Amino acid sequence: MKRANLHIKGLVQGVGFRPFVYTLALKYDLKGFVANSTKGVHVEIEGDDSKIKSFICDLKQFLPPLARIDKLDVVYVELKNDEKFTIKKSENEDTKSGAILPDQAICEDCLKELKDETNRRFEYPFINCTNCGPRYSIIKDIPYDRPYTSMAKFPMCEECKKEYENPLDRRYHAQPISCKNCGPVLSLHVKNEVFFDENIIQKTAKLIKNGEIVAIKGVGGFHLICDATQDEPIKRLRDFKARPFKPFAVMTKDLEMAKECVLVNSHEENALNSIEKPIVLVEKKDSNISHLVAPHTQRLGIFLPNTPLHVILFNFLSSPIIATSANLKSEPIITKKEDLDEKFGEIVSAVLDYDREILHPCDDSVLQMVGEKRLFLRVSRGIAPLTLPFKGGEKTLLAVGATQKNAIAFYFDGKIVLSPYLGSMETLKTFELFKNTIASWKRFYGLKFDEIIHDKHPTYATTKWAKSQNIKTISVNHYHAHILATLIDRNLPLNTEVLGVAWDGTGYGDDGTIWGGEFLHVKGREYKRVAHFKPFKLLGGEKSIKHIYRIAFSMLLDINEDVSEFEGVELLSQMHKKNINAPLCSSVGRLFDAVCYLATGLKEVSYDGESGLLLESLYDENIEEFYTLHVKNGVINYDNMLREILKDRKLKNSDTLIASKFINTLAKIITTIVNKHNLPIALGGGVFQNKTLLLKLEKQITSKPLHFPQTLTPNDGSVCVGQLAFGLLKDNT
Ligand code: ZN
Ligand code: ZN
Ligand code: FE
Repeated sequence: MKRANLHIKGLVQGVGFRPFVYTLALKYDLKGFVANSTKGVHVEIEGDDSKIKSFICDLKQFLPPLARIDKLDVVYVELKNDEKFTIKKSENEDTKSGAILPDQAICEDCLKELKDETNRRFEYPFINCTNCGPRYSIIKDIPYDRPYTSMAKFPMCEECKKEYENPLDRRYHAQPISCKNCGPVLSLHVKNEVFFDENIIQKTAKLIKNGEIVAIKGVGGFHLICDATQDEPIKRLRDFKARPFKPFAVMTKDLEMAKECVLVNSHEENALNSIEKPIVLVEKKDSNISHLVAPHTQRLGIFLPNTPLHVILFNFLSSPIIATSANLKSEPIITKKEDLDEKFGEIVSAVLDYDREILHPCDDSVLQMVGEKRLFLRVSRGIAPLTLPFKGGEKTLLAVGATQKNAIAFYFDGKIVLSPYLGSMETLKTFELFKNTIASWKRFYGLKFDEIIHDKHPTYATTKWAKSQNIKTISVNHYHAHILATLIDRNLPLNTEVLGVAWDGTGYGDDGTIWGGEFLHVKGREYKRVAHFKPFKLLGGEKSIKHIYRIAFSMLLDINEDVSEFEGVELLSQMHKKNINAPLCSSVGRLFDAVCYLATGLKEVSYDGESGLLLESLYDENIEEFYTLHVKNGVINYDNMLREILKDRKLKNSDTLIASKFINTLAKIITTIVNKHNLPIALGGGVFQNKTLLLKLEKQITSKPLHFPQTLTPNDGSVCVGQLAFGLLKDNT
């Protein structure tokens, strides 16, 4: 007979952990108790020593789906001779501890009940349990308890209450628990009429089939939805959103329906089916999906239903649907029907709404698979808020990120927390969301920041906000932050010496120019810029990011090549000559733009990353040639590459040839430079969302470790985490 004291840290609260422990204790006939504490979960078990060992073994092996153990301490103590095992209500039950989990897609058990005619939650659109359902989107305050959520206004019925209080029930302490008798109510709004009847989901499906655009409230906000096989509604949607080409995500009923329009390998299949239900970019195949869904690319973003409502909707649909976030350009996803009516009232024929409030907007997560590794384009629903354990001392830190595709990160109480994707900080609405998110987390955990860490860019709204808080601030170089984020992602010590390759579209460099094609020797708080691309002039600054032919024009002027193909550019020539509004830039993202123009003739991009996607989709893996780059004194000169591209333009299939040779060239220059340094490699920055480039690098660099983010995104969405890392380093040294 022995008695063991277990202290468990990690994601162990509000995930069905205590009932899990309870069931295990019964299985092994152990006495004692389990209780939540401020630092995690506390278990005391007494009984046969071998049974205690089996208990601990099972504890690690059969965790509830959403639980994660970061730390488990066991000490043996004196026997207390308890008579049974209980779930104890701890004195400090109300303390502000425990991680906030992301919203979860419907689980297999709930899915079965949803389809079971004999179940009392048959076709109930808000079915959930401890293992699934909304979380972050409904939390007003913590502890995560029903009165502190947007479920507070729905009193539980007797039956739900019984389940809620039974430790052996799957819905024990499931805060959003509800049923047809006591939960949120669905409503269909068509013009000025409202319907609440049983058939409204079917009616919505009918509208979709008839080629209408509808809005449906998801877990983190509204989606605009239409049939993905009909051109007409998609065209209307594109016109209205002023979004001519940017791909839309497609939701299918199930994997089977997905396989009718895309090719998926087993890793992609797992990702689609995973508990997070993200949008997964996969290869298109010939199908009845409209060519307007994702023009100019061979990939399609697919996801499976993540809420019970979506599952029921597909009972009445036989085609895939477009499900795109309801937001105006650069604004956050809309969460309230009033806002939807105001902004999309003109275009949607109906709104399927419900009366559970969304307190924190959350877009869908997006990823692609690089072999078996996940490469995130957006970390959001199902994944963020993301909690990573980190030993960083007692400080409380806030990192505000950059500006594009922004997210923020906190450090407190031995953990790093990354917010969901917030969007680009260029509109008032997204900046409001930024400030609200900070305010929410301050309230949740009573945070008082010791330091705020921000980008070096002096005019980013996030930088200005940080500096206005009367709290000590630290600024971090954008590219240094990218590389440190990769170290955090790969769980490497922060002072690991690496050769960082930080390539993206735009970031503020230490010399006041725009960087983005950087090789940095990083060691903790220090870094040295060991190589970078030769700077070129961005004629008209921001304007050339949209009008990409300006970049090609500027580069050709630099090397005195013929620019007669460009018409009406006298003004640009003057800017180039006199350096008027012509900031210098060394970004690979912009180099992609220039090459994209030269390869395809595309003069203007309509969304961020379009030229990269276009070149990637032209890539032919049978082409192994590359262009000439010269490195001198750490400056990568591409003058000869440009001349070679001009020659290739005269050949047949020049677009594919140029795109392929260009991507090969980028892989080659990385390989060449990293081989001169005896260091592990860390990649960071939005350019590394390019799967083709990553796959090439993985093949070419075999003699040393090649690290790239697999939990975070390589794009600016993880700059905040890198900034936080910098702050934590400062604390340690
Ligand atoms: Zn469930
Ligand atoms: Zn109920
Ligand atoms: Fe960046």
